[in-house]
Formats: sequence, C-alpha cells, structure tokens
Amino acid sequence: MFGLLLKSLFFLLVSGFCAFGLIYLGGLSGSLTLTLNDKELRFSIILAICVLVAILLLVLFCFGLFNLGTSLVWFISGEETVISRYFIKSRKAKGEKALLRAFILFYEGNTADALVQSERAKYLLKNDPLSLLINAQIAQRSGKSKLVLVNFKKLLENKDTRSVALTGIISEKIKIGEYESALELTKKSVELSPKNISNIETLFNLQLLEKDWDGARETLKAKKKYGKMDRLQHMRQDANLLFLKAKDRRSQGLTKEALDLTLSAVRQHPSFVAALVFLTELELMSGSKKRVEKLLQKGWSLFPHPDIAKAFAELVDNESAKDRQTRFKALTNIKSTSIHIRILEAELFLANRDFEAAKKLIAKLVKDDPDNYVLTLMAASEQGLGANSSVVREWLTKAVYAPKSFAWICKSCGFQTEWVCICSECDSFDSMEWRRPPFYSDQNENRVQIPIILEDDKSNDVDTNVTIVGSISDDKLEKGLKGSTSEKKPNNDTVKQARQIN
Ligand SMILES: [Zn+2]
Repeated sequence: MFGLLLKSLFFLLVSGFCAFGLIYLGGLSGSLTLTLNDKELRFSIILAICVLVAILLLVLFCFGLFNLGTSLVWFISGEETVISRYFIKSRKAKGEKALLRAFILFYEGNTADALVQSERAKYLLKNDPLSLLINAQIAQRSGKSKLVLVNFKKLLENKDTRSVALTGIISEKIKIGEYESALELTKKSVELSPKNISNIETLFNLQLLEKDWDGARETLKAKKKYGKMDRLQHMRQDANLLFLKAKDRRSQGLTKEALDLTLSAVRQHPSFVAALVFLTELELMSGSKKRVEKLLQKGWSLFPHPDIAKAFAELVDNESAKDRQTRFKALTNIKSTSIHIRILEAELFLANRDFEAAKKLIAKLVKDDPDNYVLTLMAASEQGLGANSSVVREWLTKAVYAPKSFAWICKSCGFQTEWVCICSECDSFDSMEWRRPPFYSDQNENRVQIPIILEDDKSNDVDTNVTIVGSISDDKLEKGLKGSTSEKKPNNDTVKQARQIN
C-alpha cells in the first residue's frame, strides 16, 4: 500500500516536471536554423527538440527490430536467444507450477491426478531430478513399479542422484520380490559407498533372506567396522550365522560339516543354547559324548538354561533317577544365584521321589521369586507327599495368577516363541532374550497345566504325577506341565523381511 503511494507520488512528480519543462521550452524565444543545399530551414526550439527525440526513438526502434530479426534467425537455427530464453522461462514456470500441484494432490491423497501432474512437470522440466524423484515417489504409492524403475534409472545418470537412485531401485526390486537382483545391486551400492551403514544393513538383511551365510559373515565384519557393534555382540552374531549354516548342512545330509560348524559356533559363543542342543544331537549320532558333556557344563555355568539341562540328560539313556541326580551334580553344584539351578535341583528331587527335599527347595523359591512353574512344582511336591487335593488345587490356583516363567521373547517386537535366529514376527536378527513375559501376555499357558495335574489328582495316582514332573527326558510331558510357551504364527518371513529392508 505504502509502495503504491510512493509510486503514484513519483509518477506525479515526473509528469509535473515534464509539463513544466515543455511549458518552459515553449516560452523560449529564438529559433534553430538548418542550411541544406543553400536552403534555410527554420525551427522553433520546441519543434527542434521534438524532432530530435523522434529521430532517437526511430533509431532505437530500428535497432530493436534488427535484434529481433537476428534472434529469430538464431532461434530457428536452434541457438539460445532471447526468444528461446523466454520460452524456457515460461516452460520452467509451468513445470514448477505442475510440480507444486502434483505435490499438493499427492499429500491430499489424490495419487491418480498427482501422477498426471507430475508426468506433466517431468515433461515440462525436461526430466529435472526433482521432478523425477517426485514422479517416482507418486508412482511408488500408486504401485506402478515399472514407472518407478524408469525414473530411478534416469536418476542413475546424474552423479549427485546416483546413490539415491540405486537405493530406490533396490527398494523396488525387493518390493516386487526380485531379491537376487536386489542383492547384486546392493553389493554395487556398498562398493560405491562402503561406509554407508544403511546400505550395509540392507545387504546383510538380503544375504540372510537369500541364506548366503558366508556373505552375511563378511558383511557382519563391515557392520562391526562402521556400525556400533562391540566385540561380544559381533562374536555372538557370527556364531548365529555359523549355526544357521550348520543347520543348512545338516539338512543336506552333511553331518560332519554341520558338526564342525556348530563346534565353531559354540566355541565363539559358549552359552549358545540352541547350538549346544544341536551339537548334543550331532555328537550323539557320532557316538562321541565327552566333548559335548564339557561344553554343556561350560554353557550351563555361563547361562543355566533348562534346554542345556535337557541336552545334558539326553547324554545317558535309560538312566535311573538316582544316577541322574548324581550325574547332574556337575550342573547343580556350581556357585550361582540363578533360580534355574534351584529349579533343576527340585525337579531332580521330585524325579527321585524325595518330595520332602523337593518341597524344601521349592518353598525357598516360592518365597524368593515365585512364578507359575515354581508354584506348579510345589503342587506336585505336595501331591507327592500325599497332601489333601484342596491343598494341591490351592497351589495351582496361585500358579494361574503368578508371574510367568521365563521364555524366549523378541526384544524388538515382544513376540514370544521358541528360540530363533531371525524373529518370524518382525524379522529382527539376534533379538531373542530369555526373560519373564509380561504378566498380561498369555494366561492360557497356566490353563494348560491345570488339567494335566488335576487329571492325576482325580485318579489320586501319585506315581503318574511324579513321572510328569521329573520328566527331563520326556519332552512332551514336560512341555505339557510347563505349558506351551510358544505362540507359533504362520511364517511368511521372506515377504516380511523384504518389507523390513524396504
Ligand atoms: Zn520380533
């Protein structure tokens, strides 16, 4: 507003000044005489000035016309001129407008119109990188994979956008399930920028997806070098990869190679429960027990997990409960505050029908850190001691509302399952933790226990109950008593993993 006022004032001043000048010149006396071929031409001052101004304007007009003509000739011959610059500017403005419109439509959720506008912008801006990127993004949302790839391939030509283009192509390849080609491209991408941790992560995930365990081990080294990974974490994850390779070899019938690989995994990560269990299975097949016995003892001393105890039990067939209790002293006599050692001791007493000793141990556990499994063991020991059925029921009722016993839980998504290298729910690698599930997680687990024990209770058959509790070697019954801690869900890992990478 103020600017407009200033402009008007300036215009008035200039007009006033011109009018004053003309009046002044008109009032001047005298004339201008021009002699041409002995003829005299006489002009008044004002007329002479007007003629001069007219000649000047004519010269300027001719000069402009000449420029326009030459520009036209250059323009027709394809050179850059004022005319071409005008058209380029106008085209650019239209392109930018279309790009903005595409962007707005995209964020309004109208992808169909957004795609049309971005195509127009791409044409007007002659495949400008920004227009290609926006077009690729909209095409991605519209599910037009071919168009996405066309855009990213064009962006590959530009040095500045090469990296983003490669990432975009890889992401699209994963989306459409072309993992092999995505893997090759990711390798190239890592070669181009070897320190880019995001590329390294993508490569690692793709190698897991393609079961390229050796490749993944190499990439893990790069992850350690450029990412935040300590030595222990690296050794554990490397052991995981060795174990995965061992499982593969075992399924191919290459038992010896599988055994060597599992041994390497256990030596790298001595408390690796799944590998120790697998190693026991392989060693039992080969008939060699001494080595695995020591490894199980070492593993147990570092991480007293029930599966290690179970594997230790499997080393001897048809063993009496008394002999087993004696042999298990190698595990129960270690100095540790872990409740799993005390639970193992109680289980061994129960199996040996020493219910008094079992109850004494379990009572301490109930006092210190009760969970549903400990309370169920208490019910079993009471039943073994011939307690009234109402007492047994009371312990079982307490078990229903007690905290859950330990289970493998994914630290990334909280999914509770059997131990796995890669979570089937969120595809995280090396994410399993052995801990108590949240209280609200799965009440059904307790309900599984009650029928088994009550059934025995009804028949009043103490022996059957003892067999269930002391069944370290009896997988099915043990699981029945503990309750199913796994919540198996359909495993559609490859697609989900791809999405995660994407
Ligand atoms: Zn998970």
